[in-house]
Amino acid sequence: MKRFHLILLLLTLGGAAFLALLLYPYLSSSKDSTNLPITTWKVQWIPVGAPEDAPPDIDGEWLSATVEHPFDAIPKGKVGAWIHLTVPPTSNLSKPGLYIERLYAMNVMVYENGKPVYQVNHNFDFERTLLQLPLDHTEITSDLYLRLTAKERAGISSDVQLGELPENSRQAVRNELPDLLLGGGLAFLSLMMLLCSWYLNRAQRSTALALTLFVMCSGILIMTYSAMPYYYFPELGHVFVFLFDTSIYILFPALLYFVIHIFEGRYPWIKRVFRWLVVYYLISFCVMVCYKIIGTPMYSLYAFLTLWLGAPLIVGQLIFISFLAFRNAMQNPNSLILSLGILILALSGVTDILLMYAIDTPHIFNLWKLGIIILIASLVMILNRRIASDYARLLSYSKELELYNHQLQRTEKMQIISELAASIAHEVRNPLQVTRGFLQLLSGKSVAHDKSYFNLAIQELDRASGIITDFLTFAKPELDTLIELDLKHELAQIETMMTPLVLLNKGELEVHVPEPQIILGNSSKFKQALINIIKNSIESLHEEGRITINAWAEGGTAVVRIADNGEGMEPEQIAKLGEPYFSTKTKGTGLGLMVTFRIIEVMEGTLEFHSEKGKGTEAIVRFPLVSNPKSKKSAVVPH
Ligand code: ADP
Ligand code: MG
Repeated sequence: MKRFHLILLLLTLGGAAFLALLLYPYLSSSKDSTNLPITTWKVQWIPVGAPEDAPPDIDGEWLSATVEHPFDAIPKGKVGAWIHLTVPPTSNLSKPGLYIERLYAMNVMVYENGKPVYQVNHNFDFERTLLQLPLDHTEITSDLYLRLTAKERAGISSDVQLGELPENSRQAVRNELPDLLLGGGLAFLSLMMLLCSWYLNRAQRSTALALTLFVMCSGILIMTYSAMPYYYFPELGHVFVFLFDTSIYILFPALLYFVIHIFEGRYPWIKRVFRWLVVYYLISFCVMVCYKIIGTPMYSLYAFLTLWLGAPLIVGQLIFISFLAFRNAMQNPNSLILSLGILILALSGVTDILLMYAIDTPHIFNLWKLGIIILIASLVMILNRRIASDYARLLSYSKELELYNHQLQRTEKMQIISELAASIAHEVRNPLQVTRGFLQLLSGKSVAHDKSYFNLAIQELDRASGIITDFLTFAKPELDTLIELDLKHELAQIETMMTPLVLLNKGELEVHVPEPQIILGNSSKFKQALINIIKNSIESLHEEGRITINAWAEGGTAVVRIADNGEGMEPEQIAKLGEPYFSTKTKGTGLGLMVTFRIIEVMEGTLEFHSEKGKGTEAIVRFPLVSNPKSKKSAVVPH
């Protein structure tokens, strides 16, 4: 979670930096000392049907306008506005020029002292433009008349800057460049996402494509919303406007599709609403295309669908998306991140739209750009988290697989051994016993010199028969008679049996069993299992060797712990314990623990080893405790 906080902090910082970048041009332009702002001007509306070359009515009604009250919404019955600017003397400037950052008009004609000096005609539906106008050197104030015509807005909605011409164009680039960079970056990102979606499966691809479309449309919207492309490439204005309009029709359905698929694929009614929305967007798109081709007759339908119906629908969608995001936020960190991203986008979008309605002056949509950046950042975060968790899962799967493989090999080996053991051991044990008997007989009659040979032969026969017993126990570990065993008593017997061997190895053996613990089992098999463990401990001892055995009850289980301070084992050795023939001793058989594991398994117990090389080993055996022992005495085999 700590890393999550760090990422949130970084996101916030990134968002703040981006906001600062967006606001910087607005803040810095007002501080520019070379520019003289003209803050007031006069506006006169142009009635419908007025000839294009008719001059303004100088003595008619003029409205006083400022940036705060720009009078740029064209009233009914008018086609545009005349703007009267009084320009102060320009003789102190080397290359005087006029710069208007935001001018609303499709057609612009500028007259300086009655002479036309500048003309721009946009035959596409983008009413925002910027104006950079070179002026003459004059000692006195001059009058500039701007004839602006458009469909909805005509007027100035920013300061009018008088200053050096190169400085003006620098300012224009500074204002518009962040949007172009941001939009271009997003469009490029979407192309990369398109490429990457190639590697996804079908179900993932549709969601990824929806997201790609969303990012691409956002990029295009941001770029084509800037006045710069229209100013420098007016011949492509139609294309830009078309791209802008089309992007809006794709952006919202794509976002909705994405969110629905991420969050609420289950509810059919949501999908039905989505389908209706898609129908609406398709119809609007067709009407938009018709309007572009046919023109004015389609305008009212187009305006109804996109302006009157469109904005509330978009607000509704954004609210709905926020609701879904909010509902799903608490499921897991991924959905929290995604929900935050979507929530911020939706809130910024709604705020932008509400501001547009609330503020009289045309609103420049900036907040939603921040929202988009945050949403994309949250998606990248989720992607990275997914990759990281997939990798972790892959690792754990492969570890598990290795473990299963190991177990499988082990079981197979065991199976073969138990079959072999069952078939051979019986056959071999009897002849061995007979041979041993005869050897003992002969040894009694032999001379002293030969006795040592007979003893050696008998010893080796005993070793062989021990191995065969191991095999037999392994092959047939079933406990014929299950009786209640008291661990305290059993371990006391084992102590008596093993102490001589421990002393022989110059070690100590301690057994602590404070209370009787009753388990079910077979006394001799149990002893065999524990003796094998203890023998290994004895064989691992160095000087001052010590073996301690404790037993206690833990919940419903009896625990026996056999610990030594012998040579210990490496982790790889521990993993191999119980495997047939695994032995590190020159005279070892590698069968002891195999048998022990088998006996404990049949007694429904468990055995685990903890060991550290050079420090010692600890074996923990667990058996289920008998909850209601019939009689403690019956479990105790008398001495
Ligand atoms: P063997 O005793 O014949 O070698 P086991 O199955 O009894 O066969 O033990 C297998 C191997 O496990 C031993 O060779 C030894 O390397 C290791 N081992 C078992 N218990 C211990 C222990 N307490 N300390 C050190 N190594 C041990
Ligand atoms: Mg052994």
